[in-house]
Order: sequence, then structure tokens, then C-alpha cells
Amino acid sequence: MTKVIVLGGGIAGLSTAIALQREGFDVHVYEKTKRLKPVGAGIMIAANATRIFNEWGLTERLRAKGNHLEKLLILSEKGKMLSSISPNPVPEQTIAIHRADLHQVLMDELGTTNVSLGKGANHVLQGPKHVRVSFDDGTEAEGDYVVAADGIHSAVRRQILPQVKNRYAGYTCWRGVAPSARLQLRSELHEIWGPEGRFGYLPISSDQVYWYILMNTKPDNQALGALRIADLAKRFERYTPMVQNILQLADEESCLHHDIYDIPLLDRYSFGRIALVGDAAHAMTPNLGQGACQGIEDAYVLGKCLGSNLESGLQDYENMRLPRANKISKIARQVGIMSQLDSRLWCAVRNGVMRIAPPRLLRGQARYIYEYAY
Ligand SMILES: Cc1cc2nc3c(=O)[nH]c(=O)nc-3n(C[C@H](O)[C@H](O)[C@H](O)COP(=O)(O)OP(=O)(O)OC[C@H]3O[C@@H](n4cnc5c(N)ncnc54)[C@H](O)[C@@H]3O)c2cc1C
Repeated sequence: MTKVIVLGGGIAGLSTAIALQREGFDVHVYEKTKRLKPVGAGIMIAANATRIFNEWGLTERLRAKGNHLEKLLILSEKGKMLSSISPNPVPEQTIAIHRADLHQVLMDELGTTNVSLGKGANHVLQGPKHVRVSFDDGTEAEGDYVVAADGIHSAVRRQILPQVKNRYAGYTCWRGVAPSARLQLRSELHEIWGPEGRFGYLPISSDQVYWYILMNTKPDNQALGALRIADLAKRFERYTPMVQNILQLADEESCLHHDIYDIPLLDRYSFGRIALVGDAAHAMTPNLGQGACQGIEDAYVLGKCLGSNLESGLQDYENMRLPRANKISKIARQVGIMSQLDSRLWCAVRNGVMRIAPPRLLRGQARYIYEYAY
């Protein structure tokens, strides 16, 4: 039986393992951390990825824990509508869910016996017939193929492509979860754009709202890192009242703060018997909510390609996935530039243009992202 080693137990790694298992491969996931602890608060799984989860029979379990989203709305700081997208080509739906719940569903599907924790890969050696991985604890594993799903700081990518450096996007991000019972939220993602930065919120279950803030700054700004939720609320006091309502309920303990990075577009995702998937291959800015969704698409396509042809499978995967994932990463970066404008004048110009832009422009892009079919 063909053995595939998956490095990394994030969304892309677990999804890849599920896809390969479904194709009949002997798969094992090696994860660096001693406990699988998903980083982040909520996440949006859009229709292009939900379609894959549908085929795998996972959607109902995700819906039971999460919440579906009917619309994605962009508003000005004063609450004026700038754009509205319906991301749900029937019958797929967009699901907003807590990351911990998504991980649990993926782990339940995969089975814990196929995952080893506390295994940080530090080197991959390729031979003509096999691949050998060395781990930080001195152990090794051998297989026929290696899939590196080890995230934006991928050790495997660093080994193969040492010249590729992570790029700071120009903004930093806070995110967290708050109780939503008193907020009377609709099943919608709201993103509010203004000169202080972006505030987003979306219900991720019947009683929780996921919120996030993106603010321009230099990397590793210690002063911003020290801000408490009350300080953030003060900075956004001119925004629509919902911002204050949510931040008043937000819990300091679960609030996460990270600078935003992506990687430059790669021109290869496969290297002999090694393939990169997820953020290891195309870490992108979060502006389209597509990073994990693209990792799930990688998983699906890799499973199908390797399942139908062992010899050319990894190259076929690269041919199918690289143009699309790279294009989406590029669009995400462009959306970041537009949405993070911080001068009042440029914000007013942008808002004016967005209000009169023909809806078909947005619809075309939404269709490309959400309605993709393999
Ligand atoms: C603020 C923000 C909001 C986002 N919102 C969305 C969203 O709504 N929708 C969406 O689709 N995407 C979103 N994303 C993007 C998404 O979070 C990532 O694209 C996705 O989590 C990447 O998954 P991954 O499995 O490739 O990498 P990771 O989640 O980083 O997982 C990598 C795993 O590999 C492990 N690992 C690392 N090094 C090694 C090693 N050497 N050996 C073994 N294991 C290793 C790590 O511990 C980790 O478990 C967002 C990102 C950010 C920053």
C-alpha cells in the first residue's frame, strides 16, 4: 500500500489526510505541537470548500456546530452599505464556525490513530523510491510521498526554497469571540471599513459572534500589542454602534493578536515526491477568507490526482492548483490594499467608487472564487 506522510495537523494537513485516506492510501499525519490547538477564533468556510466537505459527508456536522452565512456585507464606518455579496451558489452554503469545532470534525473523520503529536519535521531526504523525514525528537519516518502542510513558516519549504521569505502585509490583527445572545445578529458577515482600520463580525454559532480588527502599522509594534480591548473600543468609537456593543462583551482572555503575513507567489508546489499544500504553498492575507478554503481545495485535488496516477499525481496537482491558488492570493493582497486605506480623503473616494461600481464586477469575482468546480 502506498504510504503518504503528511507534515502538519492544521486544516490543510487534516483535510489532505482525509482526502488521501478516501483514495485508499496509507496516510499518517505528524504534527509538531504536543496538543492540537487550533490558532484563531472563528473561521468562514465558503461554498468552494463546503462543496468538498459535502462530498465527504462532513457538512451536516459542521452546520450543527456552526452557523450558515447568507450575505457578506461591506459598510462604511457610519454604517452605509458599500457592497453586498451572496456567496452561496445553491445548494452549497457558507459556514462560519469556531476553529476548534472545525478541527474536531476533521479529527473525528480522520481518526486519532493516524496522527502523531510532538513530531516537528526538520529535514526531508528524497531517494529514487522513498522519502525519509527526520523529526526534532531524533526519530524518522519513511514513506512513498511527503505532503508538507506545515503552515506559513513551513520547514519543508524553507529547506527546498530557502530564498522565499514571508512578507509583512502592513497591518496587524486582533480577533476573538463574544456572546451574541443580546446582539440580535443576522446570518451575515459585516465588515466595516474606515480610516482607523477594519472591524468585522459574524455569528459562528447560535450564541457566539466572532469579531476581528485589522489596523495598519509597522511589524511587531509593541505599543499596539499592549492594547486592551477597551483601548481598541476607544479607537473605533466613531464606527457604527455594533462595534462598541460587541467589544463590550468581548473576552480579554480569548483575544488573539498577530501581525499579518503572506508569502510571495511560488512557481512550483511539487518537488519530486514532495508536495506543498495550504499555507506552506500559498499563505495569503485573510482579506477574502480563503486561506483555509484553498488548503481544502488542495487536499481534494491532491487526493484525486495521486489517486488516479501515482507517477504524475503530484505534478498534476501542481498544474491544477497553482494558477488558481496564486490568483486568489494575489486578489487577497489587492483587496487588503483597498480595504486598509487610512486617509479620510482616500476612504471617501474608495467608498464613492464602491457605491457606484456595477454589481456584475463583484459577482464575476465571487463566481470565480465560490463556484469553482473540478
Ligand atoms: C486573521 C485571519 C483570519 C482568517 N480567516 C480565514 C477564513 O475566514 N477562512 C479561510 O478559509 N481562511 C482564513 N484564514 C487563513 C487560514 O487561517 C489559513 O490559511 C489556514 O489555517 C492554513 O492552514 P494550514 O493547515 O495550511 O496551516 P496551519 O493552520 O498553520 O497549520 C500548520 C500545522 O503544521 C504544524 N507544523 C508547523 N511546523 C511543523 C513541522 N516542522 N512539522 C510538523 N508540523 C508542523 C503546526 O503546528 C500547525 O498545526 C485566516 C487567517 C488569518 C490570519
